[in-house]
Amino acid sequence: MNGEQPRAVNGRAPDVFTPGGWTPMREYAESTPVDFLIVGAGAGGATLGCRLAEKGFSVVILEAGPFWRPLDDFASDELAQQTLFWTDDRITGGDDPIALGGNNSGRGVGGSTVHFSMIVLRFRPEWFKSRSKLGYSFDWPISYEELAPYYEEAEEALKVAGPVNYPWGPPRRRYPYRPHEVNAAGLVLARGAEKLGVKWAATPLATVSAPRGKSPPCVYRGFCNYGCSTNAKQSALTVWIPRALAAGAEVRDLAMAARIEIDPRGRATGVAFFRDGALHFQRASNVVVAGYAIETPRLLLNSACPLFPQGLANSSGLVGTHLTTHSGPGAWATFDEEIRWYKGPPNMAVTEHWNYTDDGKDFRGAYAFMSQGPLPMSWAQTVATSRGLWGEALRAEMLKYNHMAGFVPVGETEPRIENRVELADETDQFGLKIPRVVFSYSENDKRLQRHAVRFMSDMLEAAGGYDIWTNYKDTSHLLGTCRMGDDPKTSVVDADGRSWDVPNLWICDGSVFPTCGGVNPSLTIQALACRAADRIETKAAAGDL
Ligand SMILES: Cc1cc2nc3c(=O)[nH]c(=O)nc-3n(C[C@H](O)[C@H](O)[C@H](O)COP(=O)(O)OP(=O)(O)OC[C@H]3O[C@@H](n4cnc5c(N)ncnc54)[C@H](O)[C@@H]3O)c2cc1C
Ligand code: SF4
Repeated sequence: MNGEQPRAVNGRAPDVFTPGGWTPMREYAESTPVDFLIVGAGAGGATLGCRLAEKGFSVVILEAGPFWRPLDDFASDELAQQTLFWTDDRITGGDDPIALGGNNSGRGVGGSTVHFSMIVLRFRPEWFKSRSKLGYSFDWPISYEELAPYYEEAEEALKVAGPVNYPWGPPRRRYPYRPHEVNAAGLVLARGAEKLGVKWAATPLATVSAPRGKSPPCVYRGFCNYGCSTNAKQSALTVWIPRALAAGAEVRDLAMAARIEIDPRGRATGVAFFRDGALHFQRASNVVVAGYAIETPRLLLNSACPLFPQGLANSSGLVGTHLTTHSGPGAWATFDEEIRWYKGPPNMAVTEHWNYTDDGKDFRGAYAFMSQGPLPMSWAQTVATSRGLWGEALRAEMLKYNHMAGFVPVGETEPRIENRVELADETDQFGLKIPRVVFSYSENDKRLQRHAVRFMSDMLEAAGGYDIWTNYKDTSHLLGTCRMGDDPKTSVVDADGRSWDVPNLWICDGSVFPTCGGVNPSLTIQALACRAADRIETKAAAGDL
């Protein structure tokens, strides 16, 4: 695999579709301000960088991690592939500390989408106004109707494979590609759902079900969370980055942003970053932070200066706060028949029943759940840590691996000020203060999880499963921490991702979510980025940048 030497240098970048291949890349001088300097090449940063470059803006994207070539670099090996994850030191605290590692965020061009499970779902329309329409949490400063065309744009860009008629949400055009055939693990969900009388669907997935350009169709090997070595997966690395490069953007890999500099007028001038053993400074007319819900507030707080002693964009005191995660308590069962749940993408069937049904809930909020397909090492870890099984007992349990099926929800948690990312006193290898991530569930969050576990267990039983057991510790998708809003006193950025305090500082990633809803977030992140690009173009034309 690519070590720690930058690859995107000397006017070329890795060609993700060709073993050992290169593609031309424009390079910009550090001393001349580029129009947009984006920190982070993940779901938010790569999408925005592509769309802005295609509009003719000069764009440089700084990415802390490597620039992979999936065909060369990705092994079918759970251990070897740990390099995809952000594993730098982070401190985790609170009553329910969040595990931070391979289950959480990525590091590399493409960000967390390189190892994501490819589930791409839209938010329920009411969630954008959940305070006004559903009576809990916060309203977003935009509506579903404003985002709908960008959802469609992102689904088209990713060539999402999904059902002809998706049973939830407002009427919509059909998904670009036909759905994948549901695997046996997904058919367990389907069987249970039909017994309990709730709807289910083949999960809309960002891996192609038929050839697409240089992407072959998915071959159902199930290594999606450890890097897809065929390029069937439509990650930011294979979709937005090649387009961004072709449109003239520069992507600097292994470039760790350290600090955003501010001039005496309170405007950002550029970003200091480490690359190849040296500290550099790239000048920019606009800086966009897109580093994920932990690294984004960390960079803003680490950039405190005399004008903004509390950190950048933080006059509200809200940078880092209102952190949400999706709770993921699992329900698992044994079946007489062989399931072989590792075959295919890990989550091939879904029910959004409890996202769209509000009756019969003893909690506020929502959850979807999907069939599961953990690979052996990660399954052994789940069994060992949640049931304390070891040695012969663990071996006996692992012998059931091919007969197991189970469900995990994407459970909404309440955005609360006390759940936050803050700076610790300890520093990392660059001398930058590391983040401390503090999280506790509310009583409502716990009620939601108990409801999900009950319902999922009933469904497993209805599908013919037995020896059902559950585990409560897992989480996914950190969001919030720099939320968008209408009021500078109660939010960090406006509806376009522009910070209230520094007019040429923007945020474009999952940290701007005021609420997390009950679905995986990356499609909404990409739709917001597409919308932000259009809004920026309009503002530029009006002289408002
Ligand atoms: C195992 C797993 C499965 C998942 N499955 C799904 C799924 O099926 N569907 C879904 O919607 N979501 C899924 N997610 C979550 C999803 O991938 C993320 O929510 C999404 O990618 C976040 O987008 P982002 O732009 O906020 O950050 P990211 O995509 O994580 O991108 C942030 C990038 O910024 C870089 N960066 C950070 N700090 C700096 C710095 N200081 N300097 C330079 N670069 C920096 C990072 O290296 C990273 O590449 C999954 C996540 C995991 C861990
Ligand atoms: S199952 Fe499909 S998407 Fe997943 S790693 Fe294999 S080819 Fe890629």
